[in-house]
Amino acid sequence: MTEEHKLRMTKQRQIILEELRAVKTHPTADDMYQMLRKRMPKISLGTVYRNLEILSESGIIQKLDVGGTQKRFDGDISIHSHVRCVECGCVGDIDVKPKYNLEEEAQKMTDFDIYRHRLEFTGMCPSCKQKKKVGQA
Ligand SMILES: [Zn+2]
Ligand SMILES: [Zn+2]
Repeated sequence: MTEEHKLRMTKQRQIILEELRAVKTHPTADDMYQMLRKRMPKISLGTVYRNLEILSESGIIQKLDVGGTQKRFDGDISIHSHVRCVECGCVGDIDVKPKYNLEEEAQKMTDFDIYRHRLEFTGMCPSCKQKKKVGQA
């Protein structure tokens, strides 16, 4: 049994999940609302937001803590790192594997019980790099 079967999957929730899993853009609730309106013209932003919260609390999707003003959501719940563009705020995936076990290293240095770590990169995305180049020419 996967997590999905424990949570009651309404039709709406199912579609929200499908749409989120179909993209790699780590959309905000607003972005999701724009995407979903094409399939469900009557859906409200509040409904989208509430369902994203429920899905992330159930561990079916992940809510990202990357910098920026709006929360972003990720349909990929495998452990991976993110890179955020300092110009436009877009978020990409980086599947970097640390060379050694960071949790184990951290555990040696603290009395906390360590569960996991989070690694976040910042940089400039290809389209912003391109824009900068054009601007300079
Ligand atoms: Zn950018
Ligand atoms: Zn991701």
